Amino acid sequence: MGAPVNAPTERPVVILGAGYAGLTVAREVARRSRSHLPIVLVDRSPVHVLRTELYEIGKIAEAAGDVRPWTVPLANVLERTSSSFRQGAVGAIDLANRIVHLEGGEAIPFGSLAVCLGSVAAYYGVPGAADHTFSVYRLSGALRLAKALRDVETASGSTTGERRPRVVIVGGGSTGTELAAEIATTDWTRVAGPRARPPEVILLSGALPFLVGLPPKLVAHARELLQRAGVWVLHGVNVVRVDEGAVHLEDGSILKCDVTVWCAGLEAPAQVKSLDAPHGKGGRLAVAPTLELPGHPGVFAVGDVSEVRDPTTGMLVPATAQAARAEARVAAANLVARREGRPLEPFRYQEKGVVVALGLGKAAGTIRGLTLWGSPAALLKRVAEKEYSRTAEKGEDTSLV
Ligand SMILES: Cc1cc2nc3c(=O)[nH]c(=O)nc-3n(C[C@H](O)[C@H](O)[C@H](O)COP(=O)(O)OP(=O)(O)OC[C@H]3O[C@@H](n4cnc5c(N)ncnc54)[C@H](O)[C@@H]3O)c2cc1C
Repeated sequence: MGAPVNAPTERPVVILGAGYAGLTVAREVARRSRSHLPIVLVDRSPVHVLRTELYEIGKIAEAAGDVRPWTVPLANVLERTSSSFRQGAVGAIDLANRIVHLEGGEAIPFGSLAVCLGSVAAYYGVPGAADHTFSVYRLSGALRLAKALRDVETASGSTTGERRPRVVIVGGGSTGTELAAEIATTDWTRVAGPRARPPEVILLSGALPFLVGLPPKLVAHARELLQRAGVWVLHGVNVVRVDEGAVHLEDGSILKCDVTVWCAGLEAPAQVKSLDAPHGKGGRLAVAPTLELPGHPGVFAVGDVSEVRDPTTGMLVPATAQAARAEARVAAANLVARREGRPLEPFRYQEKGVVVALGLGKAAGTIRGLTLWGSPAALLKRVAEKEYSRTAEKGEDTSLV
């Protein structure tokens, strides 16, 4: 007697999310299985978003809705693989019955699963933060922020007195830092007309040290370049409330502002937080060193959605695109190995480098142990970004940083 129809081994490999992790898993599973495994890649969007470049808010504002420089159409990417693409929003994941439910009712059974749904802004219960701040964690959010900045800059040209628009950025990690530098150094007259006034930009790094976790030399260069860009960095005070046009700090002071941007942290999306599985910080899926979900053979979590500890160093792997792609290669190998009954390999993380853009064609970074700053670091970042978008479209996978 043959296996029952839709036995788990005959069901497709389903990959949820076509970001840095999901796209790499799809490609690597297709390559390793020589396109013999059916793959269904699900994303709510028909494009792969170059999320690492969404700090380029001045350029996004100038592009006025043309998002092509920050996206890669998934149809082009998947053309040469055994993957089929399903556009839809993931509603719920039923791990027990191995079925994914899309919002709108469609059910997709899976044999193996890679959960690569990324992350969403974490507001830590700060009242008003979700309602009165912008963010650049998604393309839609970056477009909204670009429009808000364009609007306040346009209005600034016709206000009386000397007042400049004020932008407050909450979060002194690399996303907040890159965004602050970009907003402070954009020539807003190109976007909002010749009377637009340069914004005053305040970066609130909160209780955590500025650029926490990055090498001290990089942090020192970043601080200096940010100062040259005209950004005012305020350390050591947390935000306790956000209203329309005002940020309240824990020392009782109130910062009036025109635009507030939340770059203070990330957590797992709701569909992931509610899964009956081990969770780490921010509801991320706490995976085994093989990137498999404990108790769920053939189910992997990759990228920002997962919490991974390097078994050699015991350190948590950072939530970066670089790590997401490295994890994806191992998860894909293990996914195929699991289907073929072979042993799985642990993931080990080796960081290639970090570069933080600081406006005016300057950046600070470390790459393979060397510290770089100024124009060479910015050039390296540009080349790495261009190389990634070119290879993402072509279906190759190389990376400098
Ligand atoms: C401004 C900015 C700058 C950054 N710079 C760097 C950098 O220089 N270097 C670096 O390494 N990292 C950087 N990062 C971090 C990096 O972008 C993330 O770590 C990376 O995107 C994680 O990849 P991922 O595949 O896990 O998630 P994502 O790339 O976010 O992909 C998640 C995918 O899931 C889809 N999705 C989510 N929910 C659903 C749903 N319910 N239904 C269907 N689809 C869904 C999304 O549409 C998306 O395509 C930066 C991040 C930001 C915001």
